[in-house]
Amino acid sequence: MKAILIIADGLGGRPTDYNGKTCLEAANTPNLDRLAAIGINGLLDPIKPGVRPGSDTAHLSIFGYDPEKVYTGRGVFEALGIGMEVKDGDICFRANLATVDNNLKVIDRRAGRINEGLKEIEEAINSIEIKDVKIIYRSSVEHRGALILRGENLSHNITDADPHKVGLKVEKVKALTDDESARRTAEIVNEFIQRSHQILKNLPVNKRRERERKPPANIVLLRGGSIKPKIKSLREIYGIEGSAIAGGALYLGIAKAIGLKTIKPEGATGRKDSDLISKVKAALEELDKGKDFVFIHFKGADSCAHDHDAKSKIEFIEKIDQALGYLLENVDLDDVHIAFTGDHSTPIEFGDHTADPVPIIIAGRNVTPDDVKRFSERSAMKGGLGRISGRVIPILFGYCDWLEKFGA
Ligand code: ZN
Ligand code: ZN
Repeated sequence: MKAILIIADGLGGRPTDYNGKTCLEAANTPNLDRLAAIGINGLLDPIKPGVRPGSDTAHLSIFGYDPEKVYTGRGVFEALGIGMEVKDGDICFRANLATVDNNLKVIDRRAGRINEGLKEIEEAINSIEIKDVKIIYRSSVEHRGALILRGENLSHNITDADPHKVGLKVEKVKALTDDESARRTAEIVNEFIQRSHQILKNLPVNKRRERERKPPANIVLLRGGSIKPKIKSLREIYGIEGSAIAGGALYLGIAKAIGLKTIKPEGATGRKDSDLISKVKAALEELDKGKDFVFIHFKGADSCAHDHDAKSKIEFIEKIDQALGYLLENVDLDDVHIAFTGDHSTPIEFGDHTADPVPIIIAGRNVTPDDVKRFSERSAMKGGLGRISGRVIPILFGYCDWLEKFGA
């Protein structure tokens, strides 16, 4: 028996999305409808009813973990996702290269989406030494990257340096708890931010950008400080081997944290131009090579919805449907159980994640199908799964007979 979990990020929507329909209802999705018709359907509250999920906490919950217990912040997943090694005691941050003026007022939070001199910048940042703490920075795509503080007596209980808005000054980081390690970490981060500005503003790449009237990457903004979470791997819990196929660093990082092998296939960009068929092909290869489980993540629908762009979200859902069609042609549902859902709703008008539930299908030989014939928020209400909270992986693995018995 094998299992496949597909998550379409930001899949769910509202009837205000597009002429009285959700984007999913407006999209032409013959393959999702076929899967709905042979499977069991329902609504999923990614975390629980009335909680607005982040993508990270939603994924943890869908994977069967309690985010209120295990979630330590986003930084660690970004660091893991771009291939950094994270040790116990490390403090990980999401790091943005940004542009500030001489008073440290933020002019551009993305330094014009800088796409040059990133190695030079990386080396400059890694040369900074503060007290006995090692600073490890790695850039990922454009202005984005992750930073790790490694040393004794550090804490992730500090505020963000990133003011999250243009026109505001870089925030002075403060301790969130009344202890020495939080105060010491806040001090180190504040010094780091200053030093990053001193060293970056004089780099040749930035001098050149100033001459070309492009925003220089003259500071590192840190946010989402977090430690390595204590999470049991899927191997430890279920005794299975799995792989994750994704484009975005966050998703690759979460997958790594639960012990999955991570694969970012050629053409998987994490954006709406991403090559979804190449992801499905990579997943099929992993199953062929003996993996029990694959997780496939599709990001684009969420990004379109954040941009309030209904047409693009509908098109992306149709692209997902085609990728699913390719998958269904190449798997035998006698051997494979498939779950398809979203990690949360991202309605077009609101343009951000909401607490609305998302539709879910589970299909395979051990699943008793219901009468639902179409995949949408509305039709899922009539499905046999009813309304569930997170825990999609445990439910899916239950159909694969991979669960330990609770009790005698
Ligand atoms: Zn998401
Ligand atoms: Zn989102």
